[in-house]
Amino acid sequence: MILETKKDILEVLGMPEEEFYKEVAPLAKMAREEQFGNALRVTSMMGYTNICKNMCLYCGMRAGNSCLERFRIEPDKVIEMGLDAAGHGFGRIFLIAGEDPKYSFSELVRIVRTLKERGMYVSLACGEFEKSQYEELASAGADEYVMKFEMSHADSFNRLNPSTNFEKRMKAIETIKGLGLRLASGNIVDWPGQTVDELADDIMLTKELGISWAPIIPYMPAIGTPLAAEKKRGNLFAIYKEIAILRLMIPGVNITAQQPGEDLRKGLSDPEANIASVNVGANTLFFDLLPDPLSQNFRVIDDRNISGTSHLYKIEKMGGFTLDTGKELVL
Ligand code: SF4
Repeated sequence: MILETKKDILEVLGMPEEEFYKEVAPLAKMAREEQFGNALRVTSMMGYTNICKNMCLYCGMRAGNSCLERFRIEPDKVIEMGLDAAGHGFGRIFLIAGEDPKYSFSELVRIVRTLKERGMYVSLACGEFEKSQYEELASAGADEYVMKFEMSHADSFNRLNPSTNFEKRMKAIETIKGLGLRLASGNIVDWPGQTVDELADDIMLTKELGISWAPIIPYMPAIGTPLAAEKKRGNLFAIYKEIAILRLMIPGVNITAQQPGEDLRKGLSDPEANIASVNVGANTLFFDLLPDPLSQNFRVIDDRNISGTSHLYKIEKMGGFTLDTGKELVL
């Protein structure tokens, strides 16, 4: 099956479930196996501050939302937890944060440099910076930067992300790529009001950007946010379709397998839903370095529930996979 054009994408997005699982899902699963064999890529994740100055309409950590307790983790503690993960053979770390103006940028650079000195693969999602700051992060050894475009239609983006704008976001994406950092990017799938046409455009843009990782999940409501008032969660079938389409269009890309299932209380660590995602082409799992209740307060969405390493071993056993922990990086 060749998927190249928006028309091709719309065709898959419009397929009934039976046809999708007969015609598309097996090909996507095969494409994942051709790229990665039976291995699932594992990354440790740490949200080091949940304070954010921005007001994205869908995000639980938006400024002014009092439905969560705010925290900052001291840089030395971030380093300690990261190195501990490395010591246990986990060679990749994903540092994620709100846009917290009081978190020292030079300390963030020190964190990256220290973790790189230990050999770790460092991914970051800390928001929009100046070009010189991305340069500093790249010089410190950052490998990958997550800058999601969220919505490919400028009017949608500008409405849902009032603290920035689409032009600025795309410029940040170009800057990151221009510096030679790997770019991770993607969309929110099936947010309230998204049309199928817009979803297809999102997928086209994801392909055009030349990404290393698609950190995609369906829209999930967060308490205290304007969009949650619309009381709709993203459709699971839509995320499975996007995963499969991306696997077939960009075979070597990493795609998040930690997806929610029908029971939102299980969050992103619903074993059956994670395995269902792998079976349509996803390959990347996470575990949280944050202890409870900090983890629960890193609340971009409700019931995020990334879970600890026990979840990884459960998936490994249930699905008969192997775990690529990146241990060779930190031996
Ligand atoms: S999505 Fe990111 S930038 Fe927007 S409010 Fe949430 S943490 Fe802040």
